[in-house]
Amino acid sequence: MTRSLLSPIISPTAITAKLGYDYDLAIVGGGIIGLTLACALKDSGLKVLLIEARVQSAAVAKGQAYAVQLISSRIFQGIGVWDKILPQIATFNQIRLSDSDYPGVVQFHPTDLGTEDLGYVAEHQALLQPLQEFLQECPNVKYLCPAEVVKTEYLPDGVAIDIKIGEEIQTIRSLLLVAADGSRSRIREAAGINTRGWQYWQSCIVAFVKPEKSHNNIAYEKFHASGPFAILPLPGNRCRIVWTAPHAEAKAICALDDEQFLEELRRRYG
Ligand SMILES: Cc1cc2nc3c(=O)[nH]c(=O)nc-3n(C[C@H](O)[C@H](O)[C@H](O)COP(=O)(O)OP(=O)(O)OC[C@H]3O[C@@H](n4cnc5c(N)ncnc54)[C@H](O)[C@@H]3O)c2cc1C
Repeated sequence: MTRSLLSPIISPTAITAKLGYDYDLAIVGGGIIGLTLACALKDSGLKVLLIEARVQSAAVAKGQAYAVQLISSRIFQGIGVWDKILPQIATFNQIRLSDSDYPGVVQFHPTDLGTEDLGYVAEHQALLQPLQEFLQECPNVKYLCPAEVVKTEYLPDGVAIDIKIGEEIQTIRSLLLVAADGSRSRIREAAGINTRGWQYWQSCIVAFVKPEKSHNNIAYEKFHASGPFAILPLPGNRCRIVWTAPHAEAKAICALDDEQFLEELRRRYG
C-alpha cells in the first residue's frame, strides 16, 4: 500500500525524465516555509514532492504566533491563499516602540508607509491550515505525510533521498532538494552547509493573555536592558506576549503563579 504513495501521478519535466529522476524538486519539511514554497510552485510546470514527518494534525497544532510583515502578506497574495488567511489573523495599524529608561514613545502608523496596514500577527494554525488546503489545488505537488527523510546521497545531477514511510524505506531521485526542515536542519548539516551562530544568553518567554480593555490592534515593543518585550494583538482581543530575558531571570518568571506573572507583566510594561 505504501508503494502507491510514491507512484508518479504526473510526469516529471522532460529533462528530469531524461536523466532518470522522479521529481524536479523535493522539499523536506511541510512547515510554513516548505508549504509556502510548494504552493508557490503550483503553476511552475515542475513536478514537486513535499515530505513532512509529522502527521498533518500534529504539524498544524504548534502553539506559536508570528509577526507577519507586509512583504510576507504579498507573497501569500501572489500564491492566492491570503483571502483564506486574513480572516483568521490580527491586523495591526499602530506600532508603539519605547525604551525602558526613556519616557518617549515612537509611533508608526500606516500613513508612514503609505499602506492600509502595518503588519499582521498570525497563529501557526491560521497560516498552516490554509496552505495545507491550498495544496489540494496543486496537482503538480505530491504531499507525502507522514514520511521522514532519513538519508540523502548527492549524485552528479541531483540527489537520492531515502524516505521512511511507516516501517518501509523507499528511495526517490530528485534534481533539486530544498531543506525546509527547520532551524536545526539535518538536511543542511548532511550537505555540509555551515552556519554562523552566537549566544545571546537569553530565553524567550511566550504567553497568551486576554486584556480587560480592547487591544485596539496596537503592537507594543519595549526595549529593556535585559532584552526586548513585545505585546502583539491577536483575534478575539487576545495578545501574544514575547518576553526576552537572561536565562535565570526567565526561569524565575516562568515559576511565578498566574497572579504574580500578571503583576510582573504590568511592572515590566509600565
Ligand atoms: C518564540 C519564537 C517566535 C518567533 N516569532 C517569529 C515571528 O514573529 N515572525 C517570523 O517570521 N518568525 C518567527 N519565528 C521563527 C519561525 O518560527 C521560523 O522562522 C519558522 O517557523 C520556520 O519555519 P520552517 O517551516 O522553516 O520550520 P519548522 O516550522 O520548524 O518546520 C519544519 C518542518 O520540517 C519537518 N521535518 C524536519 N525534519 C524532517 C525530515 N527529516 N523529514 C521530513 N520532515 C521533516 C518538521 O516536522 C516540521 O514540520 C519565531 C520563532 C520562535 C521560536
